[in-house]
Amino acid sequence: MSNTGESGSDAGGDDTGRGRSGPSAPGSVLAQPVPSGPRLPQPFTHIDTWVFDLDNTLYPSECNLFAQVDVRMGEFIAGYLGVPYDYARHLQKSYYRQFGTTLNGLMKVHGISPGSFLDYVHDIDISVVQEAPGLRSAIERLPGRKLIFTNGTIAHAERVAAKIGVLDLMDGISDIVATGYRPKPGADAFDAFIDTHSVEPASAAMFEDMPHNLEVPHALGMTTVLIQSTFIDHPAQAAARKWQSPPDHIHHMTPCLERFLTELVSGGPEQITDREPQSA
Ligand SMILES: [Mg+2]
Repeated sequence: MSNTGESGSDAGGDDTGRGRSGPSAPGSVLAQPVPSGPRLPQPFTHIDTWVFDLDNTLYPSECNLFAQVDVRMGEFIAGYLGVPYDYARHLQKSYYRQFGTTLNGLMKVHGISPGSFLDYVHDIDISVVQEAPGLRSAIERLPGRKLIFTNGTIAHAERVAAKIGVLDLMDGISDIVATGYRPKPGADAFDAFIDTHSVEPASAAMFEDMPHNLEVPHALGMTTVLIQSTFIDHPAQAAARKWQSPPDHIHHMTPCLERFLTELVSGGPEQITDREPQSA
């Protein structure tokens, strides 16, 4: 995932619990609204909260947007520490693997203030991201809340989601600031996200391109979907390329989020890999 993180307030906004199954008033069963929307395939019929990672998930990695962020992280480290770019890249990837994100490593090892890093790495050209009306149409038809949960910044998420054409469909965004600079894949990041947005894991699905970022959601009881990114910068991604079948914490996987969701809202199981969600 986004190896970054940033400033910005918690735009998460929606802590209303909309879409959650709460206690029913006595005798109110017949008064419950009839669910509308598409008939989803069985593994997703119970889902009322749809959680999307941003980078290389909501847009395809092939556009190389995140590759720009990746390069700028190395540039920032080289300038900040006064070291050659190649050594900065070595540090970048070492911190990424050791601390979950490059930023987390820079904060823990070098005590940097995150704001300048986040501003620098997200100063990128988003013209490479294409509007995705098909993805918008599919997300629009999903029943329940839609949330973005990113290790990047809310400003970056809003900018990119707007370019894709799905920002207005989102009920909230959780960024690295909102989690107190605690990044995925850490459990404390998910705890903060779940608490802020009143997410019921058992009825939530998470879409993410980093395989290890789905381990905690799976343990919490969420349905997990891996987007098979072509951007490989973590051993877990490289390992995933060799899977004969996905591990237990990956319920479904697809190379194309738009195709997966389009199949999903069409009720067609063809694109849904048949791995039933397992209890946590
Ligand atoms: Mg990602």
